[in-house]
Amino acid sequence: MANYELTVAHLYGNLLNTYGDNGNLLMLNYYAKKMGVAFHSEVVSIHEPFDSQKYDLVFFGGGQDFEQVIVSKDIQEKKESLTQYIEDGGVMLAICGGYQLLGHYYMGANGEKIRGIGALDHYTLSQENNRFIGDIVIHNEEFNETYYGFENHNGRTFLGKGERPLGTVVQGQGNNGEDKSEGVIYKNVYGSYFHGPILSRNEHLAIRLLKLALEKKYGHALELPEVFKEESTQSTAVVENSL
Ligand code: GLN
Repeated sequence: MANYELTVAHLYGNLLNTYGDNGNLLMLNYYAKKMGVAFHSEVVSIHEPFDSQKYDLVFFGGGQDFEQVIVSKDIQEKKESLTQYIEDGGVMLAICGGYQLLGHYYMGANGEKIRGIGALDHYTLSQENNRFIGDIVIHNEEFNETYYGFENHNGRTFLGKGERPLGTVVQGQGNNGEDKSEGVIYKNVYGSYFHGPILSRNEHLAIRLLKLALEKKYGHALELPEVFKEESTQSTAVVENSL
């Protein structure tokens, strides 16, 4: 089998890690190894430039408003290179606070406007004295995949131009509690409010992200082990049966 490798940026990994979001990297690492792919990840944080050419995958976790304000200021310096990476089809997984910061802004629980980078066209409003907390299930018709998770957010996100939801809410609140959308897909960026972390309960999504990153880097003639070439709906069945 060919030798593949992926270099991953963990954006603000030392600040944004609500409910074990960093576990998403462990899952990516686990499946990369099974695919025979060498996997390196490094934190890109405050005052460190983001090199849009260097990375094959980016992970951006969630955080409380306090950390988000700090990141909101610093990320403006990375706005151009992150936008470039996204527009070039770079693969990214962004959770909760990270997902919010890819959009235009997030109204914090205390009414402060926390700027995003506007690389994606969504915006996020707050809600008074309430959070969306609990188990959540969504379905993605395009991939025929169901995702299971846990949400805990004050923000109510509304998608914009070129954005489609990661899935339709079957149980829970999702992006805003109104339109049944949850998360986002824009080009090769996947965003979600799922903590838990999302990839540990949804292995088919971890495999999808790795395959996207590998295809982008090495083209479509990938020589992956047979098990990873199967239709992703099969891995959905595996996940559902194991619940
Ligand atoms: N502070 C954001 C909110 O409450 C994000 C929280 C999170 O990442 N869990 O909406």
